Amino acid sequence: MSNLSLHFLGTGGGRFVMINQSRRTAGIRLVHGSEQVHIDPGPGALVFSNWAGLSPQRLGAVIVTHCHPDHYCDAEVFLEAMSHGATRRRGVLAASRSVLYGEGGLGPSVSSYHQSLVERVVPLSPGGGFELGGLRFQALEARHGDPQTVGVRVDIPGVGSIGYTSDTEYFPGLGEGYKAVRLLVLCTMRPRGMPLPLHLSVDDALRVMGEAGPSCVVLTHFGMSMLKAGPDKEAAYLEEETGIPSIAARDGMKIDLSEFIEVSGPTKKDGKRVIEA
Ligand SMILES: [Zn+2]
Ligand SMILES: [Zn+2]
Repeated sequence: MSNLSLHFLGTGGGRFVMINQSRRTAGIRLVHGSEQVHIDPGPGALVFSNWAGLSPQRLGAVIVTHCHPDHYCDAEVFLEAMSHGATRRRGVLAASRSVLYGEGGLGPSVSSYHQSLVERVVPLSPGGGFELGGLRFQALEARHGDPQTVGVRVDIPGVGSIGYTSDTEYFPGLGEGYKAVRLLVLCTMRPRGMPLPLHLSVDDALRVMGEAGPSCVVLTHFGMSMLKAGPDKEAAYLEEETGIPSIAARDGMKIDLSEFIEVSGPTKKDGKRVIEA
């Protein structure tokens, strides 16, 4: 069976966590064989990719789900890396229209020069997507401060599907696009009882999980109030309510999907959790 690894290089979200770096804001790296894709390279993505031994020169695609700096900040340097120092037109830049063209006072957040460094620019809007090395990426609806925001579903042959909601608020049907994924990554900025318009709280996560019925859930993109409440406690609550294994991401954590789902790190002493799902 083939193997997909998800490296949580950053797990922070929102303005204050980004500014304070209470958690890193470096996004998520997908690794499948020789294929590497980075989702939402916020501030720190360049530094922590290199620290993790994941050279951005190996990227085949960069995905930016919307035009907020905790998601796009290091995108341009990643494109310089992906194009091997701007010497070769290489790779895919897949991003919301706000990131690529600017929209409603936001963006563009990747210059036309940097867009010209890649082989293919894919504007992402719900229903659109692209393929890379057998992986199929599909953009899904999100409702957020940047109206062009998209979530992402990835279908991986021999592994199954994973989903990443990006920043969104709950709306009925949000979970439908992520139906039966093996792993659902939820951007839960807020804990229980502290809703914030245009973002997901843990109460919203519960509703999305009810609709999507994923095999396993990872919470990430934590704001200050979520960090205060304790992401581990919030994940344990979701697991108890739904019976779905739920994990609070940590900076440097890695999740491998093959026959099982294996959660490890950030350090050796954190041990390993193996989920049969
Ligand atoms: Zn965000
Ligand atoms: Zn945002």
